[in-house]
Amino acid sequence: MTAPTSTNPNVTVVGSLNTDFTVRVERLPRPGETLCVPDAVMSFGGKGANQAVQLARLGLPVTFVGAVGADDRGREYVDRLKLLGMEMHVARIDGAATGLGFVHCMPDGTVSSTVIAGANARVTAAMIDEALTEAPRPALILTQNEVPTDAVVAAGRWARRHQVLAVINAAPHVSNGDELLGLFDYFIVNEEEALGYAGRNRAPQDVAGWLGLAEGLRRIAPNVVITLGAQGAVYAGPGGVLVVPARRVDAVDTTGAGDSFVGALCGALATDETIEHALECAARAGAMTTLGVGAQESMPEAGQVFGAAA
Ligand code: ATP
Repeated sequence: MTAPTSTNPNVTVVGSLNTDFTVRVERLPRPGETLCVPDAVMSFGGKGANQAVQLARLGLPVTFVGAVGADDRGREYVDRLKLLGMEMHVARIDGAATGLGFVHCMPDGTVSSTVIAGANARVTAAMIDEALTEAPRPALILTQNEVPTDAVVAAGRWARRHQVLAVINAAPHVSNGDELLGLFDYFIVNEEEALGYAGRNRAPQDVAGWLGLAEGLRRIAPNVVITLGAQGAVYAGPGGVLVVPARRVDAVDTTGAGDSFVGALCGALATDETIEHALECAARAGAMTTLGVGAQESMPEAGQVFGAAA
């Protein structure tokens, strides 16, 4: 399989931009406890921007739609994404701060995060409609749940009206998930989110159980992917189910692995790869992103994802 070229169709990402602060800890603080760490690493994050950066790294033309605060962090972020070649439709919201993420990274590389939405919470359906109408027509629209559901629904409806492939990484889990019904072609979630949308408390014991859960979530979208961290991923779609093994790596920091997986999957789907190939590329990208600290900094490029031997 070959890497995408500059003749590739555009992908539009509707989503969040956050500044991330990552602290490395031996364990999470207990209730009432303060943990002291020597420093924190500041990096560019937010699911929307992370996935857009993975797409750009893979050589796809990307349009980004979102919002930042009227602050230096927002200005720097927009400049950075422009430097990566993205067409930006990003509102600067007076009186709001650019989104923030606080990430606790454990010794095995697993992470827990708290996000302050800030300007991301001010993205509206009207802003999405206007931006999508002005922007180049995409082959694929990708969104997540770090902007308000109204905006996510507007992106899905626009894609439906214009017959554009629509993908949602429905993260974080939102309780009003029924509003997403029938709007997206692909529905991608991790384990926690899958349980949330399925209304279940207990994780399945084995891969067969996850496949069953993915099948059940097809009430939301025809194609469902559940990512399972170092256990890989499962897919359920019109042609049947697939198990996608994870690549074996010594993970340093899993921040952004899911975003890299989603970005690479969308990059491959936008260039008409089969779902089997697209999932392989996504697993390769996700694994590679765990090899470095932070999200965007460690995302792989086209040759490493599309050009590598499977
Ligand atoms: P995040 O929110 O941190 O970006 P996530 O929970 O959305 O992550 P995961 O399920 O952790 O997403 O990871 C997405 C994909 O990345 C997995 O399906 C797998 O293919 C790959 N991956 C993640 N962690 C590892 C790992 N430790 N080793 C190999 N591959 C991994």
